[in-house]
Amino acid sequence: MSAALNEQLIRDVIEEVLGRLGPAPAGAAPPAPAAKADCGCPHRGGGQSGVFQEAGPACEAAAAAYVKLQQGGLAARRKVVNIVKTLAESNAAEWGRIELEETKIGRLDHKIEKLKIIQNVPGVEWLQPDGRSGDHGITLEEYTPFGVIGAVTPSTHSIPTLSGNIVNMVAAGNAVVFNAHPSASRCAAVAVDAYNQAIARETGIENLCCIIEHPTLESFQALCANELIRLLCVTGGPGVVKAAMQSGKRAVCAGPGNPPVLVDDTACMKRAARAIVQGAAYDNNLLCIGEKEVFVLESMADKLMAEMENNGAVRLNPAQLERLTKAAFLFKEGQGGGCPEPVVNRDFIGKDASILARAAGAQAPDQTPLLFAETDRRHPFVVEEQMMPFLPIVRVKSVEEGIAAAREAEHNYKHTSIIHSHNVEHMTAMGRALDTTLFIKNGPCMAGLGLGGEGYLSFSIATPTGEGVTNPRTFTRVRRCVMVDNLRIY
Ligand code: NAD
Repeated sequence: MSAALNEQLIRDVIEEVLGRLGPAPAGAAPPAPAAKADCGCPHRGGGQSGVFQEAGPACEAAAAAYVKLQQGGLAARRKVVNIVKTLAESNAAEWGRIELEETKIGRLDHKIEKLKIIQNVPGVEWLQPDGRSGDHGITLEEYTPFGVIGAVTPSTHSIPTLSGNIVNMVAAGNAVVFNAHPSASRCAAVAVDAYNQAIARETGIENLCCIIEHPTLESFQALCANELIRLLCVTGGPGVVKAAMQSGKRAVCAGPGNPPVLVDDTACMKRAARAIVQGAAYDNNLLCIGEKEVFVLESMADKLMAEMENNGAVRLNPAQLERLTKAAFLFKEGQGGGCPEPVVNRDFIGKDASILARAAGAQAPDQTPLLFAETDRRHPFVVEEQMMPFLPIVRVKSVEEGIAAAREAEHNYKHTSIIHSHNVEHMTAMGRALDTTLFIKNGPCMAGLGLGGEGYLSFSIATPTGEGVTNPRTFTRVRRCVMVDNLRIY
């Protein structure tokens, strides 16, 4: 039942009840307008459109929307893409603010920017059919939708991932149901509500993107088990990737990373330092593609670190590093009597560099973008995907040693790696050894998503499942249409 219809029903009931009570006494307050609260439907959440309490009704609503989208054709898809891009941009300041307020991780300016750049996510234009023509007629291969997609989004960029996913998925003709991260689900529901209202107004399609109001592991499992869900797209850490892969559904998995950076002696240290600080500091290092550890040739290490300081980064001494390490990691007893294993202390994820500095017993101005210190290659800050604005710097004796150390630190996630070098043989060797989905040379990590480098944007980079930077084609089935012996026109 539509929200508009429910609202009308509530108004009618209020009017009828007031009518039976007789005229209001003089001076009494007029009846309150029907609240834009819960519509009364047991499945809906808080009166917001597209927001559901349970996976089942959300999937059914999205399936009905999918049929309507099909009827609306490419024109309807284009309208939806345009609506999402326009609203993401015009609401960037407000939605960035509410996302930061809810998650308490990252930086406001970058949260806002991540919404403005939804403009760079590709849309319907990405889907050009492939044609063949020969003696036996013609064949057309088209990129067609799956139907309803179940999507999981991370806490690190909730509304941006959700928005980019909608653009890609709807451009390809699908509807989507989201299970957002529980600590970033309120802001996600605000965006879903705004998108659905505008989509319904402009196209007449309701619930094209749906969301579970209070997401849990159970609602994720219900989504996976629902037969209307034809494809999963999960963006997050190792837990959700494993769960999606075990679900029995086809899954596009945008998994974790721990991007290493290698700096050799042919690189420009000014440019390398500027790029490293810019990338590692972005949104307090919440990006999965963000620089997480640096291996630098011994001969260049001092120059690189001096240039990082010139770019505003603050160096910690060994005692300060030790204090920060104790605060930023919890050391749990190792399995089978092994060494204690470091686990990232979530209280420090995405916090400002000045807060990390205080934990380290150091001084850093509020606007400090990044902290760094020298460590060895086994340090927890190198090994763990820490997602905080602190960068460990490791000296290596040779490019070969640097590549081996980078490969170990990347954990075979096949996500992102970065090199600063002007030696193409070093680049080739690292590219081959690490085998990552993104391999960036001489720029900050964001260049890998088209921000300062060539390319297009998505906040879901499918790593273990191999689709790469997701785009509308990722969310299609290829279908072939064959005409035998005819319509080849010469
Ligand atoms: P997270 O793994 O804690 O959560 C991600 C999502 O998965 C959330 O919605 C969460 O509720 C859900 N989830 C977690 N464990 C689950 C399980 N066992 N079953 C079902 N659902 C589960 O990650 P986060 O802290 O929100 O985000 C950071 C992680 O995501 C990092 O590892 C980062 O590298 C990764 N990430 C990857 C990409 C990419 O494009 N490859 C993009 C953004 C973030």
